[in-house]
Amino acid sequence: MRTVALEEHFVTPELAGYGTATASIAQPGAWREASRRLADLTEERLPMMDAAGLDVAVLSLNSPGIQAETDPVAAVAAAAAVNDFLAEVIAGHPDRFAGFAALPLQDPQAAAEELERAVSQLGLRGALVNAHTRGRYLDDKELRVVWERAEGLDVPLYLHPANGLDRPHLLTGHPELEGPMWSWGVDTATHALRLIFGGVFDDFPDARLLLGHMGEGLPYALWRLDSRWGFHNHHGIELARGTPSEYLRHNVYITTSGVCSAPPLLCALLALGADHILFGTDYPFESMAAATQFLASAPISESDRAKISFQNAAALLRV
Ligand code: ZN
Repeated sequence: MRTVALEEHFVTPELAGYGTATASIAQPGAWREASRRLADLTEERLPMMDAAGLDVAVLSLNSPGIQAETDPVAAVAAAAAVNDFLAEVIAGHPDRFAGFAALPLQDPQAAAEELERAVSQLGLRGALVNAHTRGRYLDDKELRVVWERAEGLDVPLYLHPANGLDRPHLLTGHPELEGPMWSWGVDTATHALRLIFGGVFDDFPDARLLLGHMGEGLPYALWRLDSRWGFHNHHGIELARGTPSEYLRHNVYITTSGVCSAPPLLCALLALGADHILFGTDYPFESMAAATQFLASAPISESDRAKISFQNAAALLRV
């Protein structure tokens, strides 16, 4: 069965420095090995894709990427440079690679224009954003121009985790909880809820958000979100679709990246439906082979497996 993976990371030597703040969350040896693999685009990656049975990898700049740049002018230049680099890599292997653009959200208008250039001229399939940009989240009114462009171009934005702007008091004394094991998922789920309650999908009803890591826990929470929204003080917010779950089922798509376990996959299938789940591995932080074996052996129907493996990617990304 054809397999397309959506959360496949790389880094360039010029931009590797953005990730140093993240290094402390990993064991040193694991970080060194991941860093080495991130910098390899083809030499080890393509044989590993062949061995795992992975046909197409949709590549994205590793977290935190351009979001970590403090200078807006430098962010605009760095995003353009890395998107050009990615387009060249894809041009060398058009049957094996596709890509998500990096966006300089430090300058919202420039980010919208870079998204248009990346999709229309470079052939990228949307953009991947790593959490906040210097404390600005994707529901910020200034960033509506980016959502408007994404909806107009009919491409998704992929919201990927990164370190928070600050450390919540709750994590004080517990640095082991910071990072992809726990805090990143909670942060990203909260960020996604900010988009729903912040009105992004009411302003742009056909905008599409991708979340990795089996939906960052949100599929499990649908009923309770709706139930408690019916009880809560709405603080003046009216959701055009009525309940939070309507947005999660309509505007949100998730990938299996970094989760090779049947119970959360079955939960996601029941909660969101097979049309909203796509495959991803989270390479190099997880094994491509473990991910493809998981999908091949998951206890789901063959028609659902085909949707997750490649059909939904063809529909959403035209891969
Ligand atoms: Zn990832």
